[in-house]
Amino acid sequence: MSSNTDKPGQAPGTSFVPADSKINHEASIKYWSSLASTNSNMLGMLGTYPWYTRIELQGSKNFLTKVRRLLPGLPASGKFALGADCGAGVGRVTEGFLSHVCDVVDAVEPVRKFTDVLANSQLKTDGVVGDIYTVGLENWYPEKKYDLIWTQWCVGHLTDAQLIDYIVRCRGSLAENGLVVLKENLSTDRLGLDMFDEEDSSVTRTDEKFRQIFEAAGMVVIKSEIQTGFPKQFKLLPVKSYALRPKS
Ligand code: SAH
Repeated sequence: MSSNTDKPGQAPGTSFVPADSKINHEASIKYWSSLASTNSNMLGMLGTYPWYTRIELQGSKNFLTKVRRLLPGLPASGKFALGADCGAGVGRVTEGFLSHVCDVVDAVEPVRKFTDVLANSQLKTDGVVGDIYTVGLENWYPEKKYDLIWTQWCVGHLTDAQLIDYIVRCRGSLAENGLVVLKENLSTDRLGLDMFDEEDSSVTRTDEKFRQIFEAAGMVVIKSEIQTGFPKQFKLLPVKSYALRPKS
């Protein structure tokens, strides 16, 4: 007999297990800690094709320019005072993008061997990288006001509830006219469900799920955009950027 809680594609009578309930933080940290802390390995997320990254970072730059034009309180150009690179890894996004648009970028990343790379980087010596927090986003309680909180390719490690709480904390730590941006892979599941990845113990969410989470966190999506320019033959997941502002 099937029950009301059955989902399409699910055996009748079996209970539906949300993808995020399988997340295991320890397993994620173990997975990421097993990778070498070099930039090319961090591109594991994009396969081993370093040239993609230029397209991806340029896409972020263009997206941010468009978002800034939508916000009357923001100067259309010039740098933000303080940004945060959340789930920073070894700082690929900070190096290739955020350091060009922010005076100072704080970093949040739970894997010590990645934050060690940032701590010893030229950007840190130059004062462009500010404070580095070696902690998962679920345990990050921002103590400053940020103009831009950039979170890329890491929220799959948070459960839905943790992600809502994280965005609520980000909302509370925004400077006037500050922005939260998430840039993440999207699920391509035929049935429209979030997908669980055993390898790094993460979920890939649907666009619909992200929007529910943003709503629950009291944020509005002021602009969203699919990353274009990735080569089709490698069949990468769609990547989407969402710019969020507190609901007024
Ligand atoms: N944002 C970077 C790194 C992406 S790789 C980039 O785009 O290049 C995914 C990163 O998420 C890894 O550095 C991994 O250590 C980190 N991560 C794993 N669990 C996390 C958690 N709970 N909170 C924040 N980041 C996490």
